[in-house]
Amino acid sequence: MGTLVQFTISESSPEQAQAGIKAATTAMQAVENQFSLHSEAGNSVQRFNHAALNQPIHLSPEVAQLLRLSEQIQQQSGGAFSPWLAELDQLWGFSSDQERQQPPSKAQVLARLPSMPCSQQQAEHWQRLKPHCQLDFGGIAKGYAIDQGIKALQQAGIQHALINAGGDLRALGMHHGKAWRIGIRHPRKVHEIIGWVDLPAGMSMVTSGDYERFFMANGRRYHHILDPKTGWPARQASSSTIIAANASLADAWSTALFVAGPRLLPYLQKEKIAALWLNQQQDLHLNENMQALFHAGQPNG
Ligand code: AMP
Ligand code: MG
Repeated sequence: MGTLVQFTISESSPEQAQAGIKAATTAMQAVENQFSLHSEAGNSVQRFNHAALNQPIHLSPEVAQLLRLSEQIQQQSGGAFSPWLAELDQLWGFSSDQERQQPPSKAQVLARLPSMPCSQQQAEHWQRLKPHCQLDFGGIAKGYAIDQGIKALQQAGIQHALINAGGDLRALGMHHGKAWRIGIRHPRKVHEIIGWVDLPAGMSMVTSGDYERFFMANGRRYHHILDPKTGWPARQASSSTIIAANASLADAWSTALFVAGPRLLPYLQKEKIAALWLNQQQDLHLNENMQALFHAGQPNG
């Protein structure tokens, strides 16, 4: 997943912690193998993406489950989240080693814009319905991997831990009897935080930012979070943060919120999800669930 994963285990013996980390690493690696678009071993996502239109393809149960969740969030977010942007992501080059110097042309983008619905399910099989409909779980798979890692830690008997995958994280239990205290990065000042939260036990916090993968051209920033309606990087936000019951939800909603902006805040409030959105000028927009958790500035001590 192109990121360093950090495990912090609290109140366990070194042996138990090591066994837990090993199991969690194996579980997270298995998620990467299932969802990777480029692994040499191949997987059902790759087979689906390269299948002819209307050909029934069996997706692994985990992929099918995450596709259903992705399509649900696509619908709930009014199209801000889409698991169908693989061709566009490839065109923009954000997942390749060779970085672009210039954006693609309008015509190139338009030509790769998938139109919905992209797929149809028949029993255990799925069909690709249209050209340019290729799956990319980049907006949700890291969260799912964190959830699988947490499950493995729990199965190893660990009750207090934090898994941090490049700033996307989920807590288990507490840290020396207190909530895990987590900072939220400032989108423009690398070593500064905009604020912090005490993460409730079991919950996940995930941030999407325009500083994670981008290139500059003609004085503009072109980043990896695309507006599915246009195929171009979403324009209004600099970062978005979600706190939710698990990391799959937090990951998907942080990407969706980044694209959709503050119009999603009331919906997320109803869904018991805490949400924070920063525009390009770093003005904060938060819903009430987030207001209850978020502290601006630096924690004392
Ligand atoms: P994240 O860093 O979790 O916000 O996800 C960004 C990654 O998800 C990108 O690198 C793409 O692989 C994919 N992606 C980009 N735009 C979207 C979108 N609007 N909805 C879902 N996934 C997206
Ligand atoms: Mg995401």
